[in-house]
Amino acid sequence: MIRRGRGLVQLPGPTNIPERVLRAMHRPSVDFGTAAFARLLESCLADLAAIAGTSGQVFAYAALGHGAWEAALVNLVGPDEAVLVPDTGRFARGWAEMAEALGIDVRIVPTDLRRPLDPAALIPVLEADRGHKIRAVLLCHVETSTGIRHDPRMVRRLLDELAHPALLVVDAIASFAAMPLAMDAWGIDCLLTASQKGLMLPPGLAFLFAGQRALEVASHCTRPRKYWDWRGRAGAESYERFYGTPPVQMIFGLREALDMLREEGMEAVFARHERLARAVHAAIARWAEAGALFFHCLDPDARARTVTAVGFAPDVDPEEIRTLARERFGVAFGGGIGPFRGRLLRIGHMGDLNEAMVLGALGVLELALRLKGVPHAAGGLEAAVAALAAG
Ligand SMILES: *Cc1c(COP(=O)(O)O)cnc(C)c1O
Repeated sequence: MIRRGRGLVQLPGPTNIPERVLRAMHRPSVDFGTAAFARLLESCLADLAAIAGTSGQVFAYAALGHGAWEAALVNLVGPDEAVLVPDTGRFARGWAEMAEALGIDVRIVPTDLRRPLDPAALIPVLEADRGHKIRAVLLCHVETSTGIRHDPRMVRRLLDELAHPALLVVDAIASFAAMPLAMDAWGIDCLLTASQKGLMLPPGLAFLFAGQRALEVASHCTRPRKYWDWRGRAGAESYERFYGTPPVQMIFGLREALDMLREEGMEAVFARHERLARAVHAAIARWAEAGALFFHCLDPDARARTVTAVGFAPDVDPEEIRTLARERFGVAFGGGIGPFRGRLLRIGHMGDLNEAMVLGALGVLELALRLKGVPHAAGGLEAAVAALAAG
């Protein structure tokens, strides 16, 4: 089938890559050993730390988010130590499975997968841990599989109240550079992210931010490690920082993406994500009135501003809607994963995105609902327009 015009990627990663970023990466290799390249990399890392809201150290890896998960675990959790993982969905579980594979004692706490984490659920496990074997609590800020934002501040408050020394380690892959984050102010000890979501880059770069306590723990951690080891990555040379050849073109792209974020201003970036999320939510709320689809997240406040998960009545197959939108209209939505495989449609709305793209995607979704005969109240697009008009 011949299709004209541009397709849209409404996945919760990878996200749309701006032309400016693509062009910035389209260049020949350079000698990365120069002072100029080292400065370029340092400027990127400083900007990333500012977005994370930390005065801690930044580590960069040629890796996926999964690599950042492993980097956090092997630097922070010793051979006889444990981690506590609230099971908020597929990504939290994936991280827990990785910890298990590394031989770490993993304490998983089930949560209501349709609501934000209630930190009280962690109390019995933390109180029972009298010997303080639990070295870290692993939390996904936005759990991308459910579209729910979990508040790291509440976990920090709980750890402080219980005087438990566990580090708070947060996966901010689906919120970084799209939703407000304040690592130091929120008491997060270690934060990690990856390039292909709010940072508008291809997959392949991962970043880890470590505060003073995390650095201290890592300096004594006896778990064998080498590629991920923070201790080998503190040099000023980019070859040292990456423990090998820096991914040169990705770093040019990163510099451009950070320039774009800086030009817009982070407050404006967050406000844009907020506004576009409100438009998406308004459309879904309207369609949902007919009873065949619903917000997966039951707490409106905890709905992520970067990805929205939509559930369906048992007789509706979201995969059919997704396939039609992608194959016939060139708009890719995410599907359900983990326990929600085949049961959700996830709309990614983070990164390089504007009103026209969001309205286009919502229009295609409404079209697909209509063509598939899925009952939905009329006026979803109108509701999105009204939300945008209201600011
Ligand atoms: C996308 C995502 C990941 C996985 O990142 P990869 O780069 O695919 O390894 C992990 N955690 C969260 C919350 C994500 O959104």
